[in-house]
Amino acid sequence: MRHGRKTRSKRFDGYKEHIARDLDLLVIVACSVTPANRPEEEGAAPIAEDIQHQGLRVVALHIDRAYVNSPVVDDVIREGGHVFSKPWGQRARSPDLFSKRDFKIDLRAKTITCSPGQVEAFEPGDTVEFDPDECGACPLRTKCTQAASGRGRTVSIAEDEALQSKFRKLQQTGPGRAVLRQRIPVEHALAHIAARKGHSARYIGARRNLFDLRRAAAIQNLESAQRLMQEDA
Ligand code: SF4
Repeated sequence: MRHGRKTRSKRFDGYKEHIARDLDLLVIVACSVTPANRPEEEGAAPIAEDIQHQGLRVVALHIDRAYVNSPVVDDVIREGGHVFSKPWGQRARSPDLFSKRDFKIDLRAKTITCSPGQVEAFEPGDTVEFDPDECGACPLRTKCTQAASGRGRTVSIAEDEALQSKFRKLQQTGPGRAVLRQRIPVEHALAHIAARKGHSARYIGARRNLFDLRRAAAIQNLESAQRLMQEDA
């Protein structure tokens, strides 16, 4: 049994279940189980392997943002597929301060510019610190940072900032949000599985619990097929 944390105060024990659902056929095509103390993204690789063994190819991957750092995302993009996810938040530490979205990020030039025009260069994965002297003299400082005297405003640039930027653009338009909502049937399938199996792991060991998850997914698929047949009748 493994122990994981959802937030600092919320702990959970056991295993994490991951599924891939074909959004056209509404069929669960692969599952994986990982110990609760491992990051979600580790659940994606065994699912991708399983999908490959079935001779299927992912052309559009709609994922929870917890899986965005998985190498599977890079593989899908490299093979010409598309990835859709909600972006990570950009909130400032305090709601009264400028958030990351108040800065202009130029991914080609790899520069970040604040509203008065101070420019810093970055590499993906950097935490950029603006020039402390310029921040010290800036009339907007109190709206921008609570950094100690002699320090400048910092902004974190994600390793996958280009991808996050694409996700943020999607979230800013109605059609983009509709694309992101296409993942909802995956959440429905997970909820049905949880209702069927309960929230506690039945077995000790990821392998046995994977068997249990696959069994529940198979029943879920049969129910979906039955529903489709009833709709067509
Ligand atoms: S405090 Fe620094 S980063 Fe913030 S707006 Fe002023 S100069 Fe730009």
